[in-house]
Formats: sequence, structure tokens, C-alpha cells
Amino acid sequence: MSSGLSVSGLEFRFGPKQALENVSFEVPAGTFCALLGPNGAGKSTLVSLLTRLLVSPDGAIHIAGYDLQRKPRAALAALGVVFQQPTLDLNLTVWQNLSYFAALHGLPRNIVSQRIDAALERLDMRERAHEKARDLNGGHRRRMELARALLHEPKVLLLDEPTVGLDAAARAAITAHVHDLADQGLCVLWTTHLTDEVRDSDHLLVLHQGAILADGQAGAIRGTSSLSDWFLSHTGAA
Ligand code: ADP
Ligand code: MG
Repeated sequence: MSSGLSVSGLEFRFGPKQALENVSFEVPAGTFCALLGPNGAGKSTLVSLLTRLLVSPDGAIHIAGYDLQRKPRAALAALGVVFQQPTLDLNLTVWQNLSYFAALHGLPRNIVSQRIDAALERLDMRERAHEKARDLNGGHRRRMELARALLHEPKVLLLDEPTVGLDAAARAAITAHVHDLADQGLCVLWTTHLTDEVRDSDHLLVLHQGAILADGQAGAIRGTSSLSDWFLSHTGAA
């Protein structure tokens, strides 16, 4: 478990609104875990807690074995993130966007070029290195953000609704790349509100109204119904 992600007893409130309630789960290394939940389920709140943008008064988070509360620097160094809202500078090239992030993370200068090349190569983005982010389509922009999230060689990769707004081909491309990364040993947590995105996941968590509704393999969770029927009847969301 030490190189994966572990969450236990996580709670979070926005004033009177309980956004997360006793959330616990584990994702081992080498696993593509989908976190499925309708809008407002608490997915992005969980991402904020995992990235320490928000801090929970209760519960514990371990990233690659590091306790996020006690060893935040080590824990966050093991985490790569693609946030729901894009965070890239459209006026910079792909290469420049990545190199600024590398500097922000304090990567030694002598390894930065090689890390950027390797990260872009993993996403089939090397030939776009010197294009401006503004000139890329949505799928390539997301792949750039994914490459950037790999620069510091994280053990755990967190993606918050990474395919929203993308067409089917771009969604398929990014999904295939992230499956490859999990096959190469990364622990992946991929959030979505779309049931058709979670069918090929190794592991499925369903979040509803801030609580984990189901935890296991998609086939075992849905039983004899289709996943979209199961999801509709349990959450009211299509
Ligand atoms: P999801 O990402 O699954 O769509 P969120 O984590 O964004 O869900 O939101 C979970 C719940 O918390 C929702 O009811 C949302 O309205 C509420 N919420 C999210 N952010 C805030 C905030 N900054 N202030 C108050 N309520 C919030
Ligand atoms: Mg969200």
C-alpha cells in the first residue's frame, strides 16, 4: 500500500453544508481507480483535500505512504494533479508552461530538459513542444497538463474530470494514456460524472452526497443492471 493512496475518515463542511462524510478508501499502485459521482457529490472537495488546498479537521490521508498532515512536503512531492479548471498560460508554449512548473517545483536545472522531453514523450506531445498553448485543441491542452503533472515523477496521479468539454476522440486518447500510466505502476484516481468513462477502470468508487456509496469492481457493483441504470437508481443522476 505504501506507494498508493489511502484516505480514512475524511470529513469536510462548508459552513452548514456537509460536503464529505466519513470518506475512506484505498487505491494501490498500478491501479486505475475511477471516482464516479454526480455534480455536487464532493469530488472536487476531495481533490482540494488531497492537494491540501483545504484541510480536513478529521481523518487521515497518506500519499505514497506519507501522512499529508505530518509530512506535507513529502506527500505532495509524490502527487501529480490535473485540476478540473485548466491551469495553463495560453500565451506560453508547451515547453515554457512545463519549464515554469519545473522551476516552481524546484527541479534541478540540469534535469529539467530531459524531464520535459520524457514527460511529453509519454503523452505523444513532443512534436508540439514549441507550439503556443493557445494554438492547441482542447485534447492536446489537457495532455499538456497531464505531461506537466508527471514532471516531478509522482507516484500518485489525481485527475479531476479531465475529459469535460473534450470530443470523443480526445477523450479516448487521454483515457488510453492514463491507463498506460497505471499499467506502468502509477496509482491513478480519475474523477468523473460519466458512467461510460468508468467501465474499464480496475477499481470503482461511487461518491454520492459526500459519502462513498460503493467501492469495488464496476462489474460487482452494478450486478446484472447496466452501470448507468445502477447509477440512476442509486443517485438519481443519468
Ligand atoms: P463535485 O466536484 O462532485 O461536483 P464539489 O466538491 O464541487 O462537487 O461540491 C460538493 C458540495 O460542496 C456541493 O454541494 C457544493 O455546492 C458545495 N461546495 C463546493 N465548494 C464550496 C464552497 N467554496 N463554498 C460552499 N459550498 C461549496
Ligand atoms: Mg468538481
